[in-house]
Amino acid sequence: MLDAIIIGAGFSGLYQLHSLRDKLGLNCHLFEMGEEIGGTWYWNSYPGARCDTESHAYCYYFNKELYNKWTWTERYPGQVEIKNYLSFVAKELDLLKSISFSSKITRMDYIDNSNSWKIFLENGKVFLSRFVITAIGCLSKPNTPKINGLEKFKGQILHTAEWPKSKINFKGLKVAVFGTGSSGIQIIPEIAKEAKTLNVFQRTANYSIPAKNQSLSNDIKQEHKYNFDRLKNISIHNRHGHPWEHSNTPIQKSNLDDSYQTLNEAWEKGGLSFRDTFSNINYDSFANSVVSEFIKEKIENIVNDPSTLQNLIDFDHPFGAKRPALDTNYFLTFNKKNVRLINLKQTPVDEINTSGLKIGGEYIHLDLIVFATGFDAITGSLLKLNIKGKDGVKLSNQWESKPKNYLGLQIPDFPNLFTITGPGSPSVLTNMPRAIEQHVDWITKCISYLLENNNKKIEARHEFADIWLNMVEDEAKKTMFLKTKNSWYLGTNIEGKPKGFIPYSGGLNKYTNICNNVANSNYKGFLIS
Ligand SMILES: Cc1cc2nc3c(=O)[nH]c(=O)nc-3n(C[C@H](O)[C@H](O)[C@H](O)COP(=O)(O)OP(=O)(O)OC[C@H]3O[C@@H](n4cnc5c(N)ncnc54)[C@H](O)[C@@H]3O)c2cc1C
Repeated sequence: MLDAIIIGAGFSGLYQLHSLRDKLGLNCHLFEMGEEIGGTWYWNSYPGARCDTESHAYCYYFNKELYNKWTWTERYPGQVEIKNYLSFVAKELDLLKSISFSSKITRMDYIDNSNSWKIFLENGKVFLSRFVITAIGCLSKPNTPKINGLEKFKGQILHTAEWPKSKINFKGLKVAVFGTGSSGIQIIPEIAKEAKTLNVFQRTANYSIPAKNQSLSNDIKQEHKYNFDRLKNISIHNRHGHPWEHSNTPIQKSNLDDSYQTLNEAWEKGGLSFRDTFSNINYDSFANSVVSEFIKEKIENIVNDPSTLQNLIDFDHPFGAKRPALDTNYFLTFNKKNVRLINLKQTPVDEINTSGLKIGGEYIHLDLIVFATGFDAITGSLLKLNIKGKDGVKLSNQWESKPKNYLGLQIPDFPNLFTITGPGSPSVLTNMPRAIEQHVDWITKCISYLLENNNKKIEARHEFADIWLNMVEDEAKKTMFLKTKNSWYLGTNIEGKPKGFIPYSGGLNKYTNICNNVANSNYKGFLIS
């Protein structure tokens, strides 16, 4: 029997493997269904795929030597560079010998009398392990919407999160992109450079801030290394795990001209720090509306065609209530002659057939359909594991109405199973490597505590998971996140999924304190035996 099985070879799995194997000396193995290291950055290899977190923050901070050995080349790292970074980490820490690729877990059963897990792989192999840690990602189960007739289409169909490893040549092709969230906003300008025609199908108009990506100068690279301790300290005290201080000033403290000037400076600088220009953008309707109007004006100054513009700024939600995107020339792309925007709210697709689609009495010929339609986020990949816990309780049954979980880390009735960035953790609302390191450190400390005390089993208590669900809900009520009816944070993009705000929105800093207090109280809220 293994001491621990880790599922997933992205940021979470690699650090968890290193922590349990090399810090605690456990007998561990990691299973990954992809063919290589990278997780998100293995699967999402579409043109334009890039991180919105700045490179010096989108990496591990648990080891200063490791941090200093790697040098990023751009302000925001692209998909290939992040994948190369994770391969570098795996090599440096000698992780590959403990990883099996092309190894998909399809079922997991808890064995009551041995306090262990039986893990079933798609290839027929079965393993026993005392602990299981899911590092399967919040955004790793792609979502393709149901469109009448899609199965009849004879051209190529691609999803940004399952992008082929061979290069796609768009030259001369008639392309459709469905989805204008973060991935759509990244891929649309890239396809537009080559395609004969590009029809963009938009369900929701989205805010986007200019990324202002650039190559990093040698001075900046050195500065990031020199400032390691300071950046680490700021990030772990930042609400979203980013290396900057957020403003403590509400927008109401300035007059409109001054707030526009401040917003303009942040816009020109580019990046996610725009969200933190004032302290109350995500908490106060007035502050949010000022920012929303500011962004609308910016888009008005970019887009030429009045009806396209109207559709692009037809926002049905406050700024930040859905995942805020960063872009490079997204709005500008709609001035190109080969690009057209179609608002699905006004004109839904009638049907797709062999060579295109019918919409509003028109037929659009297509060679390629790209879905940039996101994910069954946070819970989707966990439910796909077919997990059966204590007394045969199925996770799919327990989560029928709500994804119950304590601290995002453990599910009642599922002992010795830890979920990195599970529902109820800050996960997708943060710069994720910071949230991941916090989770992995907490899990590692917890397992070390169990071993030191000769305990066989740890399990979250139902009543504490219920309290936690309420706390997650209460935090969301303070924000703008509930001021939209539709978002993947709320699960509304997936038919049949329970509706409710899934991640913890109280901030990574506050969340870390709560988790530390639980650990320091000998794991209050957990049953240990
Ligand atoms: C397009 C895109 C852009 C993003 N940009 C940002 C950003 O700017 N900033 C940020 O902080 N985060 C961003 N994220 C979130 C990103 O997912 C995290 O930052 C981080 O990569 C998550 O790492 P992870 O290891 O937890 O999960 P993942 O990287 O998703 O890795 C999970 C792994 O588990 C494997 N797996 C899943 N199920 C199974 C199974 N049943 N059996 C075996 N293996 C399995 C998957 O194949 C995958 O390789 C982005 C995500 C996407 C999709």
